[in-house]
Amino acid sequence: MGRRKKIVQECERLMDEPENIRNIAIAAHVDHGKTTLSDNLLAGAGMISDETAGQQLAMDTEEDEQERGITIDAANVSMTHEYEDTNHLINLIDTPGHVDFGGDVTRAMRAVDGALVVVDAVEGAMPQTETVLRQALREGVKPALFINKVDRLISELQEGPQEMQERLLSVIQDVNDLIRGMTEEMDDVDDWSVSVEEGTVGFGSALYKWGVSMPSMQRTGMDFGDIMALERNDERQELHERTPLSDVVLDMVCEHFPNPVDAQPRRIPRIWRGDSESELAETMRFVDESGEVVFMVTDISMDPHAGEIASGRVFSGTLEKGQELYVSGTAGKNRVQSVGIYMGGEREEVENVPAGNIAAVTGLRDAIAGSTVSSIEMTPFESIEHISEPVITKA
Ligand code: GDP
Repeated sequence: MGRRKKIVQECERLMDEPENIRNIAIAAHVDHGKTTLSDNLLAGAGMISDETAGQQLAMDTEEDEQERGITIDAANVSMTHEYEDTNHLINLIDTPGHVDFGGDVTRAMRAVDGALVVVDAVEGAMPQTETVLRQALREGVKPALFINKVDRLISELQEGPQEMQERLLSVIQDVNDLIRGMTEEMDDVDDWSVSVEEGTVGFGSALYKWGVSMPSMQRTGMDFGDIMALERNDERQELHERTPLSDVVLDMVCEHFPNPVDAQPRRIPRIWRGDSESELAETMRFVDESGEVVFMVTDISMDPHAGEIASGRVFSGTLEKGQELYVSGTAGKNRVQSVGIYMGGEREEVENVPAGNIAAVTGLRDAIAGSTVSSIEMTPFESIEHISEPVITKA
């Protein structure tokens, strides 16, 4: 059996274990390194080769994206990662970083429970960092922080330990100020500020594929001093091998981002205003795969062979081929032609996709991004609010 087939089978097995699923987005200000980081994760999970990570930009599926060097369409990918002797299924949604595509970022946030916010260590938090944080928090999505391009502080800017520490702490402080400011306005969101001690902050270099966090330092025995020495001596391959970025980030994802069973009871009241006492509310809160099917479409893409593909989050029930489903805002039903998951940017058909997962569905001809698709008529999900960019004022 081919490697890819094996990974698909493992993903299919894990789809039935919602406790071991993490639905996540990576979001960033343009050029802060989201695409390079995503490729690292794919390589770490064995989805693309280590050598091509960072060059191939696997998440940029559309040709014109590669030409323009920016990510336009939110692409999805599923991968597996072993954490504390348990294999986890990580469904990653890529989000556009460009200023014009804020709507897609917000839609992607609807499908996930955790958002890894990437910030360039040199530039610090930028206007889109604020926008993506706001989008995440509004959707009840928990943030974590990855400070990228730390290699530049060491090798290019030649910062000493003190200077570097001050800079990194000030990035964390800025991000936490943003988070606290936003969560204070919301009465039902926990304090979701990020913290090095708790392990919700990672540092590293997506370009040179190394990373570090408090838990990783304990695991690898490598501290910042060791890292600075290796980076300075241009021993980046060794750095990558001893403290690979993908392990640091994927461990953080498994440890700190909520699984659907933890996330949905909190998220459903935020995003759905139907009867909270109903059986349907209960099946959604409890991620009940035997309940009515409830699927929220967050993106529509075109496949040259399969036609329109609706991707999104299954909140309840199990999606299967042949189901006749209602599409909010339209009359009649649509018949599911196929269901699948995303592997390295490619769609892979599977038998079924249960609650708690990200699915790719064909046959939903009336669905648009934002549609609620369900096996019974229901109150649709709240519309996904597009948050526009804050006005940039330069002194
Ligand atoms: P995105 O717009 O957030 O997806 O950013 P990309 O991943 O496309 O990266 C933007 C640019 O920054 C590219 O030229 C990358 O090679 C570079 N880059 C990304 N990560 C790092 C890093 O850790 N260190 C350095 N020095 N450059 C990086």
